[in-house]
Amino acid sequence: MATHQARKRFGQNFLVDQGVIESIVRAIDPSVGDRMIEIGPGLSALTEPLSARLSKLVAIEIDRDLASRLRNRFSTDKLDVIEADALQVDFSAFGSSLRIVGNLPYNISTPLLFALSQYADSIIDQHFMLQREVVDRMVATPGSGDFSRLSVMLQYRYKMTKLFDVDPSAFDPPPRVVSSIVRMIPLDQNRRRAANEKLFAEVVARAFSQRRKMLRGVLSAWVPMIPWSDLGIEPSLRAEAVSVQAYIGMADALHAQGV
Ligand code: SAM
Repeated sequence: MATHQARKRFGQNFLVDQGVIESIVRAIDPSVGDRMIEIGPGLSALTEPLSARLSKLVAIEIDRDLASRLRNRFSTDKLDVIEADALQVDFSAFGSSLRIVGNLPYNISTPLLFALSQYADSIIDQHFMLQREVVDRMVATPGSGDFSRLSVMLQYRYKMTKLFDVDPSAFDPPPRVVSSIVRMIPLDQNRRRAANEKLFAEVVARAFSQRRKMLRGVLSAWVPMIPWSDLGIEPSLRAEAVSVQAYIGMADALHAQGV
C-alpha cells in the first residue's frame, strides 16, 4: 500500500505504539452491539482493533485519500466510512445510545467538543485523545489555575475523567505536546439545568473574559444594577473560584431579574 504523507492542516499524527493502542481500546471496552462512531480514523490504528470487536463501526474522516483507503481496506458491512468534516456532521442522524471515540485532530478539538455537547442526551460516552493541556482544563476543579470556561461548559454536561497520558513518541509524526485520554459521560436528564442556557453560557464567557479581575468589575460592566445579594456569590471572587453550580445559580438569578 502506498505510504501516506501526514497532512498538517488535518492535524495528522498517527498512532504507531501498539501498547498505547491496546490501552486505549481496553479503556473504551467495546461490546459487539455498541453503536460506535470514530472521528478521524486516519490510517486505522484504532479502527482496526475496534472494528474487530464490533459488528459495525461508523468512521468520519475528512481526508479524501484516507477515506478511500479505509473503504478499500474494510468491507462496507463492517465499516461505514463517512467522508466529511466532523464539525459539520449532524450526529442526531445516527440515533441514540451512541459511543463516540477518536484520536482527535488538535486544531478542531475545542469546537468539536462544544458541537458534540448539543447531542449529549443521545450519547452514552465519549473517549478522546486530546492535548494534555486541554484535558487538564476539562477536568480542573474550581480554584485551580486550569479551571476555565471550557471546564465550566463541559462539566455542566459531562462527568469527565482523565485516564492516562500518551507520550509524543507514540505517534508518527510525533506531535509537539503530550496527549491524554479523557472519558466523558453525559450527566443524566435529571441534572440541574440553567433556566436559560444561553444566558448561562454568556455569564460564564463574560466571567472568564477577564479571569484575573473580580466578578464585581467584570459583570457590573455588563449589568450595572447587578443584584449581588440574589446571586449567592461573593462579588470579590474571580471567575476561576466559582463552581459550576454557582454559575448556574448566578445565571438563574439574572434570568429572574429579566436579564
Ligand atoms: N485515529 C488515527 C490514529 O490514531 O492514528 C488518526 C488520528 S489524527 C490525530 C486525526 C485524524 O482526523 C486524521 O486522520 C485527520 O485526517 C482527521 N481529521 C482532521 N480533521 C477532521 C475533521 N474536521 N473531521 C473529520 N476528520 C478529521
